[in-house]
Amino acid sequence: MKFPSFVCVVVLFCSAALPAQVTVIKAGKLIDPEAGTVLKDQTILVRDGKVEAVGQNLVIPPAAQTIDLTAETVLPGLIDCHTHLADGARETDPLTQFEKTAAQVALESVPNARAVLESGFTTVRDVGVYRALTDIALRDAINRGYIVGPRMFVAGAYVTITGGAGGATGLAPDIPLPWDLHYGEANSPWEVRQVIRKLAHDGADHIKILSSGAVLTHGSNPRAQEFTLEELQAAVDEASHFGLRVESHAHSPQGIKNAIRAGVASVEHATMIDDEGIALAKQRGTYLDMDIYDEECIEEDAHRNNMPLDFLAHDAGLAQMQREGFRKAVQAGVKMSFGTDAGVCAYGLSAKQFAFMVRYGMTPMQAVQSATINAADLLGKRELLGSLKPGKYADLIAVSGDPLADVSVLERVDFVMKEGKVYKQK
Ligand SMILES: [Zn+2]
Repeated sequence: MKFPSFVCVVVLFCSAALPAQVTVIKAGKLIDPEAGTVLKDQTILVRDGKVEAVGQNLVIPPAAQTIDLTAETVLPGLIDCHTHLADGARETDPLTQFEKTAAQVALESVPNARAVLESGFTTVRDVGVYRALTDIALRDAINRGYIVGPRMFVAGAYVTITGGAGGATGLAPDIPLPWDLHYGEANSPWEVRQVIRKLAHDGADHIKILSSGAVLTHGSNPRAQEFTLEELQAAVDEASHFGLRVESHAHSPQGIKNAIRAGVASVEHATMIDDEGIALAKQRGTYLDMDIYDEECIEEDAHRNNMPLDFLAHDAGLAQMQREGFRKAVQAGVKMSFGTDAGVCAYGLSAKQFAFMVRYGMTPMQAVQSATINAADLLGKRELLGSLKPGKYADLIAVSGDPLADVSVLERVDFVMKEGKVYKQK
């Protein structure tokens, strides 16, 4: 009889005696992307992974650990809304996927996750994998603390037409594919619904559909429309039954407009967006997630003869078109998020896109907002991400220098904290 009550006393004592993890961060400058302002000499109080308070004259708990960033500019953790972390080691030809098992692909992805977090991106919206569900495995391994990486919101698979932009293509038609290399194929509104039902069950956080052909897919044409408006509408409707948002890959003008009309949350790439598409995106409040930097990496790979020639033929002329479309969309006041197609460039280089966003019409603050508060809004997570406010995750980074004077300083992040835990400190 004495034993159970003794255990009870010990448990009560232990839980009462466990101190909450309290950290105090002294920030020389703090960028608030929500207000579009910079605050000086701020203290950020972090308790159990969340921001508890931010201000100048906070009462500091006696046992708090202090981190001195008074010489730095502190920002909320960055968010890349278009990554592919779970496709294994970076390769320029997706045919290499056929040389690996799913386990190999997943384990090769471990360093990708670390590189992205250490470069200052504490959250990603990962928008598709060749081998279905490897992204879910990576997300869960990070969440359970098995490996180091950003907080991932994942698509599970591509929802694609057969032989389309998200297909595992390039093999002869008489070679059968395993289930996870054609999981997301759909060719009617009802097949689209069926795939989305599977994805919702299997744990996807959002749905990635492809409404035009792709540059980096064999046998695909980025100028071609894929899926009908009816199929895209079925996707948005079915996803909504599970509380999931839809993003659509689209290069062609018609693919972009079909996606916007169907009600997607964001259009990815939006490469050949025309004036009508820009007006529609503005009217519908659709985010454009335009990867305007990665052409630099495609060209670099081309110079090294490391890019399939059919991909280069698809890509001809598109980069300049996309960058001019980006400039027009910014001018028109369309909602813009930060997405790089990480994996096209090596992992850890996403921040190089900021300078290009400024070159093509954004202010540095707008560029920072695209990767913080706008990205959080696109994810539907404004209450948890995108700025350093009480109740939100303590996801923050620090850089030396002023990103609002020279946005490229974001390419050199000195300090990374995710959910109150320090992952990088110089
Ligand atoms: Zn992509």
